[in-house]
Amino acid sequence: MRCLCIAFFLFALPLSAQTLPHTVRIGVLGIFHSRQLTLAVSANSPLLAIANGHRFFLQPRSACSSLSIRKETKLLISGCGKEIEADNLRATSRNQQATSFILTVPGKLSRRYEGILEIKTRNNELVPVITMDLELAVASTVQAETTSGTPLEALKAQAVVSRSYLFANLGRHKNFDFCDLTHCQVLREPPSSGSPAAQAAAATQGLILTFEGRPVATMFTRSCGGRTRTPQELGLPQAAYPYFSVACDACEKDPVRWTRALSEEDAALLPAMGENGRLAICRKLGWNSVPSNNFVARMENGKVVLEGTGQGDGIGLCQRGAAFLAAQSSDFHEILTHYFPKTKIEPLTPVTTAPSN
Ligand SMILES: [Zn+2]
Ligand SMILES: [Zn+2]
Repeated sequence: MRCLCIAFFLFALPLSAQTLPHTVRIGVLGIFHSRQLTLAVSANSPLLAIANGHRFFLQPRSACSSLSIRKETKLLISGCGKEIEADNLRATSRNQQATSFILTVPGKLSRRYEGILEIKTRNNELVPVITMDLELAVASTVQAETTSGTPLEALKAQAVVSRSYLFANLGRHKNFDFCDLTHCQVLREPPSSGSPAAQAAAATQGLILTFEGRPVATMFTRSCGGRTRTPQELGLPQAAYPYFSVACDACEKDPVRWTRALSEEDAALLPAMGENGRLAICRKLGWNSVPSNNFVARMENGKVVLEGTGQGDGIGLCQRGAAFLAAQSSDFHEILTHYFPKTKIEPLTPVTTAPSN
């Protein structure tokens, strides 16, 4: 769930003047601020890693199938009988194309990715960046940002939303386009081919939402509480797309309810700062400490008790409402038209779109 990224600085160019990016650059695993990573081959995919002219040929099921990369003065790369210092490392297939590989933060987690990997240093940590096929990034975010069992038409709506966001916000970060966190869109491993997320991306390939001919940096929320919100309602600046407050039957009839207790000091941020206050509390106390900005407050035993509905900022696509509409036989066009009034669904290029069964 992307809960904090209002992209108000959107696009300047109309869609007709923009070219389709085939790849996006995703900064991954940044949450760990890691000083050490392990790069390993995935399944049957050999790797070519190049660092300051030194070449490492990594082979599956061999003594040379992984490298250790540490942040020292520079990068310290060890493995395959060598240890070198380098400014950066680039890993590809043997013919220097995108390929599968596994990145591990020792003691934390391992993830498989597909793309071209570059690792640099910034401040005191490693910065792994993956140049990834745009459609694979869409499928990966659909997989990571939705829950199991979401109907396919709702996943397709999410795919168009995720793609529009990627397209409209290229270059959001200084050293890469997007991070893999809720700040941009959550991205983990790519979904398996044939999975619902992969099907949703393939069936909507190249489609984005536009408003007055320009791509929309589309927002989404896990559930809205009954109506979606506009940025102004939450004390946020107006976005280039004028988000509307639209009715959401699923959340109106059966909203997700929550209760939280905050100190008076923390709670004081909410009316003073609106959505930014909620996010400030989430950064301080955890990302679910105030699930939405739709609540009533009362004092109880020296605490401020919040009783609210909805999850996330409430702006744009309501994922819960989208799943409800899909279950009522709405297709992704109808879902997107409902949550994003006055927009169009347009292809980035004249691609052949798979049947939407
Ligand atoms: Zn980000
Ligand atoms: Zn809703």
